[in-house]
Amino acid sequence: MGKIKKQDILEILNKYDKDEITIATLGSHTSLHMLNGAKEEGFNTAVVCQKGRDTPYRRFGVADEYIMIDEYKDIANEDIQEKLKNMNSIVIPHGSFVAYAGLDRIEDEFLVPMFGNRDILRWEAERTLERQLLVENDIRLPIKYNDPSEIDRAVMVKFPGARGGRGFFVASSPEEFDKKIESMKARNWVDEEDVGMAHIEEYVSGCNYCIHFFYSALNDEVELMGIDSRYESSIDGIVRMPAQDQLEVDLSPSYVITGNHPVVMRESLLPQAFDIGDKLVDAAKKLVAPGLNGPFCMQTLVNDNLEVIVFEISARSDGGNNTFMNGSAYSYLKYGEGMSMGRRIAREIKIAIEKGELDKVIT
Ligand code: ADP
Repeated sequence: MGKIKKQDILEILNKYDKDEITIATLGSHTSLHMLNGAKEEGFNTAVVCQKGRDTPYRRFGVADEYIMIDEYKDIANEDIQEKLKNMNSIVIPHGSFVAYAGLDRIEDEFLVPMFGNRDILRWEAERTLERQLLVENDIRLPIKYNDPSEIDRAVMVKFPGARGGRGFFVASSPEEFDKKIESMKARNWVDEEDVGMAHIEEYVSGCNYCIHFFYSALNDEVELMGIDSRYESSIDGIVRMPAQDQLEVDLSPSYVITGNHPVVMRESLLPQAFDIGDKLVDAAKKLVAPGLNGPFCMQTLVNDNLEVIVFEISARSDGGNNTFMNGSAYSYLKYGEGMSMGRRIAREIKIAIEKGELDKVIT
């Protein structure tokens, strides 16, 4: 089975009753404001929900329909796809949807119209592709080191597949790198193969801003929707200890996201924020057409030179969108009303239906 073609999706979309579109997603990640925003824009909503995980959707009353599944990954099963199509569903992807359905199945088997660009999801998941998107238009990212012997300043060492940064470490010289690797090997945290694949990059000692954009394919405009910063365990717990205790407990930090808080940037940084958003959208149009249609996020650190340095991107709705379910400082400036990312997506779909341009926003 090959990759799903846009033509196949358009044929399904042609059979849909455009007056009865349902906005659907997997019940997880950023689904609350997606469903709530879709309702605010007048759509029917459906949540595909793992049994036993439906409490938030029922308690907040965001979904008209519930499709219950045994496991999250079942969302890509054929019978669930049929149910979704029978409801004229457009599925909104998010981080959990991608993780559970899996990139291969989304690209090859999930024959339900989705919002955005199906092909770009792989580009954020693979570090080399992600880097290509960033370097295409010279976006500032942490300097990469090809070999530990080159380490000449504080670096962060990341291991492939180390979700939540478990086992990431900081080193400032080749000797310190070797010493830390030896101690990790002794604890069986890494093996020789992991060490060969370690990604070494400049440690940016700055403040975290995750900048949420929406690219409207209908208006060809990049909108700044909101900014969040992350709460990560155990690092945010460790830094609350007095330095003396930190040394004594010898904890190795991890970066598991447990929550997010809304932030604003100093105003003089906003030109850089818009600039990197525009550059990424341009790069995506060139490298993975039609580009970054819909929500995306640039995870940045801002150093004391006031450089906005991008260490990761999300090419779909990012968890930090949950900080502005009723609008952010920035989405208020643009819309003058409580505009969440979910509502913005629904509005784009609504306008596309009115203009007969659904093909521009669907994949
Ligand atoms: P994961 O995708 O496994 O969560 P990330 O690459 O997002 O890993 O990094 C996890 C955390 O590590 C970030 O949220 C940030 O706090 C920190 N971090 C990542 N890269 C750097 C860097 N170059 N310099 C300083 N801190 C970093």
